[in-house]
Amino acid sequence: MSVISPSKTTPASTKGSAAGGSRTRPGKLAESGSPTVRPPAAAHLSDEQVAELGRELDAIRDEILAKRGAEDAAYIRRMIKIQRGLEISGRAALLVSKNKAAWVTGTTLLSLAKILENMEIGHNVLHGQWDWMRDPDIHSTTWEWDFVTPSRSWQHTHNDLHHRWTNVVGKDNDVGYNLLRMDEQQPWKPVNLANPLFNAILAPLFEWGIAIYDLELTEYKEGTKSKEALLKDLKALGKKVVTQFTKDYAATPAVAMLTGSGKQALYGTIAANAIRNVWAHAVIFCGHFPEGTDTFTEEMVEGETRGDWYVRQMIGSANISGSKFMHIMTGNLSHQIEHHLFPDLPSSRYAEVAPRVREICQRYGLKYTTGPLIKQVGSSWAKVFKLALPGKTATA
Ligand SMILES: [Zn+2]
Repeated sequence: MSVISPSKTTPASTKGSAAGGSRTRPGKLAESGSPTVRPPAAAHLSDEQVAELGRELDAIRDEILAKRGAEDAAYIRRMIKIQRGLEISGRAALLVSKNKAAWVTGTTLLSLAKILENMEIGHNVLHGQWDWMRDPDIHSTTWEWDFVTPSRSWQHTHNDLHHRWTNVVGKDNDVGYNLLRMDEQQPWKPVNLANPLFNAILAPLFEWGIAIYDLELTEYKEGTKSKEALLKDLKALGKKVVTQFTKDYAATPAVAMLTGSGKQALYGTIAANAIRNVWAHAVIFCGHFPEGTDTFTEEMVEGETRGDWYVRQMIGSANISGSKFMHIMTGNLSHQIEHHLFPDLPSSRYAEVAPRVREICQRYGLKYTTGPLIKQVGSSWAKVFKLALPGKTATA
């Protein structure tokens, strides 16, 4: 039985924006039936139940799309205004950071600005969540975020690949970022003993880790990425590195030299980037690695219907519980489950749909993994340690 209308043949991640272009992904979902193997956590569901679940989630999505409007536009504009205020005042305080209080204030404000830009603004704008506003300044095709990896490279590995292949081992390279062993299906190698060490180094340097990851060097080595494509990406990265260095490590310290605060301002911008990196790393690791999140085999996506695609996003993702402030500072990735179901809906709507998604999970006997930040971070790190060792030691 067909449950998918022509406009719904691809997951939400590719739709609903004027951006199109590079975010269009290949592949089609099956109109009916079931994957070759349904994931164990959803094996109790019949094809019809999965189809009905898909219809229910589609209805939630359609409802939010119909409601989306001035209130949402005001929200993102307010976030951008706050972010700019934080950034300007942070850099201004760093200009006189010979004074210790000014250094602490400047570094804190700039860290908050960078976190807000990356998480609640950058990641979500780059998903096309605000493209419907048709504002060329807040658009997935024009936004260049305050992160070393160029926006276009991120959109390819994140929107096109990670959101499509969420947690499919061997397809979704976000399962360990080609650096860490994060699933027992990944064969153990002696280098994996350094899993905790690599992760500890990765956290403060996260944007650099992502920049290297986005170059897809493994794909180049395997011959699935051309030399031309790699050179193009390297050129874009080089340009971005120059921009970021100029802004953070040259311009701000140079002006601060006028007050004899050049060195302190440099330390402040380095610290702000490191703080943002540690935060982004922690939040992103909470999305798919805590205890309770499932990974999948390629057989589990063969013949996947829209309902099955939704199921995979739900049981392969984990939320973080907490305050409204915390949700904003995580870029609403604290609603990772809702984000993966509806990557192109405005992030400000995730909290609203979360109770309904949770109720659907309960009704269909599917898990809905969530927990406080500390617990989820601890759980992700436990996996980093467990999988450093050979054997099926993870219980996720
Ligand atoms: Zn995303």
